[in-house]
Amino acid sequence: MTTTPQYPNIKHQTSNIVILGGGESGAGAALLAKARGFRVFLSDKGKLADKYKTILLDNGIPFEEEGHTEEKILAAGEIIKSPGIPDKAELIQKAKQKGIPVISEIEFAARYTRAKLIGITGSNGKTTTTLLTYHLLKNAGLNVGLGGNIGESFARQVIEDSFDYYVLELSSFQLDNSYEFNPHIAVLLNITPDHLDRYDYTFQKYIDSKFRILQNQTSENYFIYYADSEAIVQEMNSRQLIPIGLPITTEFPEGLTGKPNVSYLKDDVIAVNFEYGHQEPLRIPMSEMTIKGRHNAINAMAATLVCRVLNVPEGKIREGLKTFKNAPHRLEPAGEKDGVTFINDSKATNVDSVFYALGSFAQPLILIAGGVDKGNDYSQIEALVREKVKALICLGRDNAKLQAYFNGKVPVIHETRDIREAVKLGLELGQPGDVVLLSPACASFDLFRNYEDRGEQFKAAVKEVVDG
Ligand code: ADP
Repeated sequence: MTTTPQYPNIKHQTSNIVILGGGESGAGAALLAKARGFRVFLSDKGKLADKYKTILLDNGIPFEEEGHTEEKILAAGEIIKSPGIPDKAELIQKAKQKGIPVISEIEFAARYTRAKLIGITGSNGKTTTTLLTYHLLKNAGLNVGLGGNIGESFARQVIEDSFDYYVLELSSFQLDNSYEFNPHIAVLLNITPDHLDRYDYTFQKYIDSKFRILQNQTSENYFIYYADSEAIVQEMNSRQLIPIGLPITTEFPEGLTGKPNVSYLKDDVIAVNFEYGHQEPLRIPMSEMTIKGRHNAINAMAATLVCRVLNVPEGKIREGLKTFKNAPHRLEPAGEKDGVTFINDSKATNVDSVFYALGSFAQPLILIAGGVDKGNDYSQIEALVREKVKALICLGRDNAKLQAYFNGKVPVIHETRDIREAVKLGLELGQPGDVVLLSPACASFDLFRNYEDRGEQFKAAVKEVVDG
């Protein structure tokens, strides 16, 4: 093992890299590896998208698709694996038996950057918090890039390495194959059971995966985490702690008293504490932000804390929170007609997300839900539905479970397989001041290509009724 002075993060030296999976991250890793002088071979079990095939051809990078040639792959000095390929895959197991290191694109790219990294993970809220943090830092004039699970691959950007900071959205799969990767600021938003099929159906293994974001942290680094998450708190040990918490009724939430460097939501105002005792808490009303709801209070606190750590001026943070535009399909305003507001929350494909969506509105709701049920337990939202939902419109091929659960608990229940009809029904049932909320709690594959398709069709249907 040697280190190259030019790239101080590099400890491994090999001349021969194989990349498994030719999507955005695989193609980016191939380009970076080639640019850094490695012999590169890319292999994909499926068909490559034309876009990535062209990139590989244009750059003279050899590849194969629709199958893996085992002897070529097992001749690698190091393998960069797409996050979509499970560790259990036979080929990965064989590589490991041969002692070939298998790493993520993030791990590889991080070796070649001089930038400071901000890594954001969690079961929910990653995209919103990553985009918001990026927006706040960019708005403040920092030379910052955006990567990970979003947009252009981190590896591809590192070829030029022209940024001082990168904000990275990190899934547990990317963290699984990261070993020396060390974000200067790590953000952990929450941990709830997810993707357990990749973790032997053991929640602890998934928790361990998320905590890999901390594995190389030192006292120089920062860890921002959601302190009301039981799973997170149980895993905590002594680091530079900057908790944020919900709910809060007193100055500091119960259980966190004595740890004053805590940020919290109170009376719809976030109070962000950093270097408590030296800096006043930064208080910002949720009404001054474009994002809504208690879950977004957590995301806003996390993003604001990153800014505090990086000394972004208060005015710039406030300004950025006012101008942020979230990715679509996340509590996205879709239009208004006769005083009835339509909201597209198609990304809410599980009950947990709907719980937060329902909590984001004070107005009476007409809820459009349904689709492919992934073993949902609706008891988590029952109380909120009883309190807020005046009508439920079931939108799915098979609505029996949803109907059976809420029968007698919601005054009006309708059923349809047509999203345009669901929107029309919503308008008919709505009175001025009501909100028609598409927040399905289910996957979309019964009636739509994916959640984006469902959200786009909803917005188009709303536009039709708005335009009359
Ligand atoms: P991810 O990238 O982790 O899937 P998103 O930002 O795309 O997260 O949000 C997905 C859904 O999760 C949103 O529709 C919202 O309802 C919910 N959500 C967002 N932030 C949080 C949070 N901090 N805690 C719990 N749920 C959240």
